[in-house]
Amino acid sequence: MNVSFLSIGSNMGDRLRHLQQSVYTLHSQEGIEVVAVSSIYETAPIGFIGQADFLNMAVKIQTSLDPHTLLNVCQQIESDLGRKRLIRWGPRTIDLDILLYNNENIESENLIIPHPRMLERAFVLVPLFEIAPELASSEEVVQAGGVELWKKIDGAPESFWGGSLK
Ligand code: ADP
Ligand code: MG
Repeated sequence: MNVSFLSIGSNMGDRLRHLQQSVYTLHSQEGIEVVAVSSIYETAPIGFIGQADFLNMAVKIQTSLDPHTLLNVCQQIESDLGRKRLIRWGPRTIDLDILLYNNENIESENLIIPHPRMLERAFVLVPLFEIAPELASSEEVVQAGGVELWKKIDGAPESFWGGSLK
């Protein structure tokens, strides 16, 4: 059985309903079990003025589906919700991204895992780390993003600046 983490976001229409519908539909699929859901976070949109705020969450799944089949499922859910969205509210009510799939690195034309932009996006990482605190220090995630531990800091914040700054 494979473990995968997905990021789900919505900024149009009934945002909570779209998140719930996506998670429910994922769980209803043959070969997918949703085993953890994060809290829901609200995030101001980055780069687009005048758009509504997003609701974002992360889910952990266990799946027998290979990554490309999982992507197809995600895109099917997007288009099912998207069809309603096109009629009522315009594009992009829901976005399902595959963040991680086991510890695999995948680079094909239509699928890159770990998700290439996940490490820049607090709205992805905060919910992800809530349900997978072990990943916050995982070398796979850290190195996949080209980020390396430069200095490990332990102890109280005061010890970081050594009391010499004010
Ligand atoms: P974004 O999520 O970056 O806002 P889209 O949801 O429109 O953009 O996705 C664009 C394309 O990203 C999809 O057609 C899909 O093939 C590709 N893609 C690459 N890697 C992933 C991934 N890990 N999860 C989801 N989609 C991905
Ligand atoms: Mg996407």
